[in-house]
Amino acid sequence: MAEFKEQLDKLAELQKIDSEIYDESSALESFPEKIAEMDASLEGKKSGMEEAEEKLKAIQVAKNEKETEMQAKEDQITKLQGDLNQIKNNKEYKAILSEIDSIKADISLLEEDIINLIDDIEAAKAGCEEEKKKFEQEKKLVEAEKSRIHEEESRLKASVDKLRQQREGFSKEITPDVLEVYQRILSNRGRMAISNVHGEFCSECNMHLRPQMINDASLKNKLVMCENCSRILYVEED
Ligand SMILES: [Zn+2]
Repeated sequence: MAEFKEQLDKLAELQKIDSEIYDESSALESFPEKIAEMDASLEGKKSGMEEAEEKLKAIQVAKNEKETEMQAKEDQITKLQGDLNQIKNNKEYKAILSEIDSIKADISLLEEDIINLIDDIEAAKAGCEEEKKKFEQEKKLVEAEKSRIHEEESRLKASVDKLRQQREGFSKEITPDVLEVYQRILSNRGRMAISNVHGEFCSECNMHLRPQMINDASLKNKLVMCENCSRILYVEED
């Protein structure tokens, strides 16, 4: 009988190793998704930067257009002023002068627009800098977090390898039929095939256990399963 108790205690030790392997493997599996999320967030910051650049470009184009328009009007005035020298008729002379005045008025409106656009360009440049700064900051954070994750990944991989070796050693000390039952429950249940008895309850599924079951489990002379979750019940000794 003492032999079976030893088997059960070893099984409980094996469970500790297996739950660690489970937790560390789960953490490892979660890393690619975490990295993908960080890349997506960084991509979002990048689009903010690109939008700001597009906005700046659009204002610069608008300013160039106004400048071209103003140049055309100035050329028009130069031409009209040339025409003035040819004209002898007073009425035509006045008409051209008034045309020149009207074009000058247009030019001064264009100048105002251009001054406003220059202000807009300054603001848009500041906006670009701001977005760029945000992107660079986020990039730094993401890179730092990624290298932290990669370090954690190597640490966990080494740890899981070590635990698997320990596990192999441990499994050899457990009789194949007991190990087989344990393995079957573990593959069905995921993390835990063994459940500690806490007071009158199964600690894994919280089922209230009959006194007879607790008593049987305490004797440690056979495998006793929880009637609800089918895990092997284990009574820890102080
Ligand atoms: Zn249970």
